[in-house]
Amino acid sequence: MKRRIALLGSTGSMGTQALQVIDQFPNLFEIELLSAHSNADLLIQQALNYKPNVVVIIDDNHYLKVKNALSKEDCKVFAGMQSLVDCMEMNSIDMMLSCIVGIAGLKPVYAAIENEIPIALANKETLVVAGELMMQKVKENNVPIIPVDSEHSAIFQCLMGEQGNFVEKIILTASGGPFRGKTTTELENVTLAQALNHPNWSMGNKITIDSATLMNKGLEVIEAKWLFNMDIDKIEVIVHPQSIIHSLVQFTDGSMKAQLGLPDMKLPIQYALTFPQRLKNDFPRFSFTDYPFFSFEKPDIQAFPCLSLAYNALKEGGNKPCVLNAANEVTVVQFLNGKIKFTDIPKIIEKALYTIPFSKPQTIEEYLEVDRETREKVNFCSFI
Ligand code: MN
Repeated sequence: MKRRIALLGSTGSMGTQALQVIDQFPNLFEIELLSAHSNADLLIQQALNYKPNVVVIIDDNHYLKVKNALSKEDCKVFAGMQSLVDCMEMNSIDMMLSCIVGIAGLKPVYAAIENEIPIALANKETLVVAGELMMQKVKENNVPIIPVDSEHSAIFQCLMGEQGNFVEKIILTASGGPFRGKTTTELENVTLAQALNHPNWSMGNKITIDSATLMNKGLEVIEAKWLFNMDIDKIEVIVHPQSIIHSLVQFTDGSMKAQLGLPDMKLPIQYALTFPQRLKNDFPRFSFTDYPFFSFEKPDIQAFPCLSLAYNALKEGGNKPCVLNAANEVTVVQFLNGKIKFTDIPKIIEKALYTIPFSKPQTIEEYLEVDRETREKVNFCSFI
């Protein structure tokens, strides 16, 4: 029997790459549900190709367009976030692959955990915002949660077969992004086009800007803390500009394991979908002669303060990682829209972190309230 997949965020960069992986294994997987935020045209095309039983468009302005285009298909069409959350009660979903960007993934991912649906998680912000609550529920319900983020997939793979062995530290690798080596002064005048030009990875806009500010690595430190139940002082970041070593684990005997491969998100997506198996695919292979040099350097936290802001937010705990994430999501959009400078991003996030008082949200709704409050403050107060 084929594994029935709910693919959330199917029209984005990760979602479309996930479908390319699924194309490789037509006998193993079928699409049960597709959801997208607002790219109705691509969602319709995907639905015609993959014949899911359910399609959800989050932005209900596009509902009629999607509904009409799929009227001849044997397919239910819904609109809105609550519909997507309700769909997680379908017992025809064998696995959820969440490729949603940002806190928008929080409710559906939490609903999947509540309904004991195994999760392949590309949506790091859900763990950044509410990692403690999420992992508590994951434990209670004994739901497998398999990371798709390449660094976390690497760590997950390095930990295979090491049950009971003590981990001294985990080391997340970072490419350093397009502005590696630049000083704060030089960063004052970088353009959006330069920020979107990532040297190694082809990704969506949000994560590409996060990579340029190093916030992406900060979010990944928080993600790693929750996924692997690690103390924050045992999570290190090293810049590795070639992006071939995807991350490392150091064990109690000083031995280190690393996972290597070309920078291609299809590899961690496939591993998450086929875990614990490794299946043959046609993706390009890595060659050492194409990459004769690997190099490593310390991240420059003077020029890229977002990484330290994330560490500090995680140390403080409570609502702070949620504030960090919300302020980051808003400022990234502002930067993408040409409203602020690249170097304003960390300044505004820092201001949000010390302006919004500490609290300890206990429920998903309370986290969403912190998110709303932060967005409002960052959007409407003069934070620069
Ligand atoms: Mn990553």
